Amino acid sequence: MRMLLDLLIPLTCAGCGEPGTSWCSRCAATLVGLRAVERSATKGVPVLALTAYGGPARRAIIAYKERNRRALAEPLGRAMAAALPDLAERVPAVRAACPALVTLSGKSPPPLGVAHVGDPLWFVPAPSRRAAVRRRGGHHMAGVAEVVARVLVLGGVPARVAPVLSLAGRARDSVGLDVAGRRENLARHLCVSGRGVPPPGAPVLVLDDVVTTGSTAAACAGALRSAGLSVLAVLACAATV
Ligand SMILES: [Zn+2]
Repeated sequence: MRMLLDLLIPLTCAGCGEPGTSWCSRCAATLVGLRAVERSATKGVPVLALTAYGGPARRAIIAYKERNRRALAEPLGRAMAAALPDLAERVPAVRAACPALVTLSGKSPPPLGVAHVGDPLWFVPAPSRRAAVRRRGGHHMAGVAEVVARVLVLGGVPARVAPVLSLAGRARDSVGLDVAGRRENLARHLCVSGRGVPPPGAPVLVLDDVVTTGSTAAACAGALRSAGLSVLAVLACAATV
């Protein structure tokens, strides 16, 4: 039904409404960049975002999450992948774990077909509540993470996606909780499980859509570290200012 609707409803840019494209080049230009996100909740884990939460980025994230515009996984994932060389420059732990990331910058492209050897960089999407996953017909950040990993693999950098963080169904909505309450609420209900948990010590980047208080980012990093993984940073599409 949804696919049928997509055919019947004219395609428009999720950021500005321009007809004929799902994401225009002007809106794509607003998702270029990398900014450090400073939050008291996230001490000990670098958190960075492509842009401020507003304008086309905000509209695209909402359209992707809540209006079932699945095709937006592609531009969102590509924008995040494009920020990784800069992330490697700015976060020493990322550069140390995956020096090949800087070759993605285009300064020194790897020869075609020659893959970097070494352990993969793992991308763990931030979790959604199970009800939201059901409503949306899938785990929205996992879709973005798949695009990010694909771009890396095509660039010769080994990368994998591990959607192993989940929120137990009883986690209460965080609306109305203060920062400490949100963190505690999340930490109690976050678990690392499922098939495909990366091996102990594996380098992990957490991917999220929007950072607000930083409680989710901190709780994800904490849960993954408790599971023995090496969380290098959290990268988000956008952060509230
Ligand atoms: Zn646009």
